[in-house]
Amino acid sequence: MIKQLDLSEQYSRLNPEILDRIRQVFETQHFVMGNHVAEFEAACADYLGAKHAIAVASGSDSLLLALMALGIRPGDKVITSSFTFFATASAITRLGGIPVFVDIDPLTFNMSVAALEQALKKHRSVRAVLPVHLYGRSADMEGIMKLARKYGVRVVEDAAQAFGARTRFRGTYRKAGTTGDMGCFSFYPTKNLGGAGDGGMIVTDNGRLAALLRTLRVHGSPKRYLHTHLGINSRLDALQAVVLSVKLGHIEQWNHTRMELAKRYNELFAGAGLSTAVTCPDVPEDMTHIFHQYTVRLKNRDSVRQSLQEAGIGSEVYYPLPLHLQPVFRYLGQGRGSLRETELAAKQVLSLPLYPEMTVDQQVQVVEAFGRIRSAGAPGAGAGPGLRHTP
Ligand SMILES: *Cc1c(COP(=O)(O)O)cnc(C)c1O
Repeated sequence: MIKQLDLSEQYSRLNPEILDRIRQVFETQHFVMGNHVAEFEAACADYLGAKHAIAVASGSDSLLLALMALGIRPGDKVITSSFTFFATASAITRLGGIPVFVDIDPLTFNMSVAALEQALKKHRSVRAVLPVHLYGRSADMEGIMKLARKYGVRVVEDAAQAFGARTRFRGTYRKAGTTGDMGCFSFYPTKNLGGAGDGGMIVTDNGRLAALLRTLRVHGSPKRYLHTHLGINSRLDALQAVVLSVKLGHIEQWNHTRMELAKRYNELFAGAGLSTAVTCPDVPEDMTHIFHQYTVRLKNRDSVRQSLQEAGIGSEVYYPLPLHLQPVFRYLGQGRGSLRETELAAKQVLSLPLYPEMTVDQQVQVVEAFGRIRSAGAPGAGAGPGLRHTP
């Protein structure tokens, strides 16, 4: 039995340290915000290379607050990806904004810069662009920032899946979330830096936005019982901050290991003669893809997933129904067929087990299971519209 994500090994190693830090929180009885949270913010800002880090209650809130800080109002358009988690777009609509979904690049699964340019040319009243660094790979920030400056729009990065990912930007390497106006992170337990509950963070180099975000997260209150803005309640717990502080010390190593595991999967699939049947993800040389998800493409995804499940191997589909086709967003009028690559990816993607503690043996078992599905002639094993035939 190999789970898609298994954190038990990680926690059994870290538990003594984490439990000790949790005991300290109980001793101080400072449960919400406070010193532990401030320390974690400073450590995040330092690690990511941003001037300011503002901790909030969830990744969803980080997106909402970032758009609130930009002053997104009813009728404002925000260009984003449809191939992402729901929270990316609901942050826009909760403020009355209108998401404009653009198609993805099929190799990276991230917003296509060409599609972004078309949308910027076509739409009036675009206020911001919200790229997503899906599966741990940075979107093309160089291309996106160039267009954003040209058209005078702001950029909020959804880096919920890419804590610590690196990308080339204007001749240097920068971490995901630090090249736009603001970068948003989630510490949901399954993320590559995950807490023991909900949590999120916004980073920015802009002092004015940072101060505004610090006010907005506490009911728009810059000081006690004075309210200058209509904010929300979105604070990080000290318990989450200490768990995350302990884990932050390991993130660089974990991210490195994730990339090594992804490379090894690719080699194992190639070695097993499965490269034509299973389209493995691109492992880029000029950036650090942290493989929050290791996602392959399969023509007959659903039956392969079923067979894997029967073989005791977990997998997940991120995401089976793109946002432009969700019932709640039907009113936006971007119907089926409007985003070709997004709709195709939603039918073909499958994320396989990957976590830093995974062993070579486990990876071999996953790949062998694919080999068995194929040779057994099970549905999806090269049949019909399923996996591609090898000649
Ligand atoms: C997880 C996630 C979010 C939301 O984060 P929460 O902490 O669960 O609220 C937003 N966007 C993307 C791309 C995510 O993966």
